[in-house]
Amino acid sequence: MPPHQLLGLAYTETCLFACDHCIREASPSRSGKMHIRDAKGYIRSADEIGIPSVGITGGEPFLFFPEILKLVEFASGLGMETSVITSGYWAADPARAGEMLSKLAEKGLDVLGVSWDEFHERHVPVSFLYRLADLCSRLGLRMVLNVCRSTRTRMNHEDIKAKVHEQNLVPLGRASSLPDDLFLQYEEPPSGSCGNLLNPMVDWNGEIFACCGPGRFSSPTSPLRLGNANDSRLRETLLKAAEDPILGAIHVWGPYGLWRLLEDEGHNQLYTPKERYLGGICMFCLDLLDQSEVVAILRRKLRSPETKRRLEAAILVANYRIRVENTAKNRSVSRNHSQTTALVPSRERN
Ligand code: SF4
Ligand code: SF4
Repeated sequence: MPPHQLLGLAYTETCLFACDHCIREASPSRSGKMHIRDAKGYIRSADEIGIPSVGITGGEPFLFFPEILKLVEFASGLGMETSVITSGYWAADPARAGEMLSKLAEKGLDVLGVSWDEFHERHVPVSFLYRLADLCSRLGLRMVLNVCRSTRTRMNHEDIKAKVHEQNLVPLGRASSLPDDLFLQYEEPPSGSCGNLLNPMVDWNGEIFACCGPGRFSSPTSPLRLGNANDSRLRETLLKAAEDPILGAIHVWGPYGLWRLLEDEGHNQLYTPKERYLGGICMFCLDLLDQSEVVAILRRKLRSPETKRRLEAAILVANYRIRVENTAKNRSVSRNHSQTTALVPSRERN
């Protein structure tokens, strides 16, 4: 697989809200939280094996703001790119929001991720987004707006100074109780590759998953479950995952590609496609990889010289694309940083 690009840390499962679509099932009554000492250890491991970025998510990481400041400072001191994902609830008071973002910028934050969509809108007004986008722009931070897309999504983000990252609503976690007509539906097994595998995640309790989010719902034997950082060293676990051909194949060919390999082997009776899939490729992927017999056959197939060659070639192409994207991103970051110089007082730049 191409090298991992970001280690996600699901720092807490506590949140001020309990959104209906929350795949993490975060809420005010959940209390699980990572220890800051463990989080620093995970960040150090990621840095040692060349993962360039760390993303702190939750629940709501801003509920532990002093710790988040320390983690951002720690990761950025190692030279890593840092991001924190939030609902943005703390932007109610413009002065306080400015102060908090300035502190994060001083400690080296690169990206503020704000999750916002029709579900978050019940708790966080859209005006907070504009406020945060303006503050980020003034402080030289990049803002990414994470939108969970349902069939009702009618947002127009064009005038917000943020990069928009859309992901389909998937029927997992609390979203599994939402009505079916809210999910985008696919009648054939959905095709498409998976970029999320470049971003493995450590949950607050040390559980390690190959992808952020849906992997938490996989069976204990699924290749998406990588183990627990309390029982095994994160560094070795991630290096092993990066070499796993099943994960590499999902990254470049998607679950559809794996299903076709199963057919090539004459084992299509082992997996009967459903009449429809809600939300995209994830439910198909979880289904396929939850079956250990299917995974064993796929592993055998992926070891055959012809398939191995094809996979290596596809991974080379994916690797090349990532390098090109990273170069473009670095160029735009250095451009943004030089624009910022004029806007941010020197105290905030140091
Ligand atoms: S979706 Fe985000 S804001 Fe809503 S409950 Fe989950 S973590 Fe909290
Ligand atoms: S497609 Fe599979 S690996 Fe990718 S995010 Fe969905 S469940 Fe995870």
